[in-house]
Amino acid sequence: MNCKYCSSTNVIKFGTFNGVQRYWCKDCKRKFADNRALPTMKTPIEHISAALSCYFGGMPLDAIQRHLQQQFGTYYSEMGIYNWINRFSQEAVSRTKDFKPIVGDTWIADETVLKVGGRNIWFFDVIDEKTRYLLASRLSTSRTIKEAALVMNEAKRRAGKSPKRILTDKLAAYIDGIDLVFGADTKHIQSKPFTDVNSTNVIERFHGTLKDRTKVVRGFKNMDTARLLTQAWLVHYNFFKEHTTLGDVPPAVKMGATPIKDWAEVVSQTKTLPPIRSEALLVTSTKPILKTRHPKRRPKELRQKPYMQVAVTSPRGVGVYVDRKGQRLSRKPRRGWRRVYP
Ligand SMILES: [Zn+2]
Repeated sequence: MNCKYCSSTNVIKFGTFNGVQRYWCKDCKRKFADNRALPTMKTPIEHISAALSCYFGGMPLDAIQRHLQQQFGTYYSEMGIYNWINRFSQEAVSRTKDFKPIVGDTWIADETVLKVGGRNIWFFDVIDEKTRYLLASRLSTSRTIKEAALVMNEAKRRAGKSPKRILTDKLAAYIDGIDLVFGADTKHIQSKPFTDVNSTNVIERFHGTLKDRTKVVRGFKNMDTARLLTQAWLVHYNFFKEHTTLGDVPPAVKMGATPIKDWAEVVSQTKTLPPIRSEALLVTSTKPILKTRHPKRRPKELRQKPYMQVAVTSPRGVGVYVDRKGQRLSRKPRRGWRRVYP
């Protein structure tokens, strides 16, 4: 048994709760349960990672709920599943934010629309033609020069360079946006529909993939969540999703070492540290302490005192139990023992 927090083997059994064995780490002084779940959570890691894979594969929440019920026999509320998605999306985005992709010199920018309650929301995407790595995605409510420049800036920051060519559609905002970010060294090619022989395929495939994203982002509760889900989907697309044209590996894997390989790894490597419990709560044996199941069960004021001094309260007053010889003490009544009132 290893500690969930510090992986130390210096752990002891620490009672059970609802039938689940608890352990105590002597090194980091933290308590944890033996239930294959993350610390402070009781859901097994594989249930959560299965839900995440399904969700980013385009499955709606109610279908995931049924899937988990079938697969593991456990019921989870849709809200609970939604909360996992939120929490581990943040984790996935932050774990991959420093990854430097090795991309080619031709990038393609494109925008797609998502209709939400009569409103148009735009996705701006920049993808590398050679590696299919999605460099940047941005959600916005308008298609201005500023938005075009922001997504280009993001792509440039991630790649750590400017491309030699960039292909876009006829959207006017790209002209100034690209000029602002990359300057004259980058050749801007505008066409609609994409007539460039090499790019048509990429864009068509890409649009097919984006349909999955629409399913993922459609369930958002507000604009911030929609942005988070967009970024998490970008991680899913670049790091986890297999691409047939790349030999069934994700674009990031094709480039070499990646920080994470799947959703299960995102979940299992999430570290949440509860506060270290104070020493005072531990029974540090100063004999003659009688065995107790849990140090917290003792009255606060008596926690570090031996049981010799623990009094038993009864309708007749205060007392302890002693054996026939009057030598051993207990606070519990035992057969043949007497209660005395010191
Ligand atoms: Zn530990």
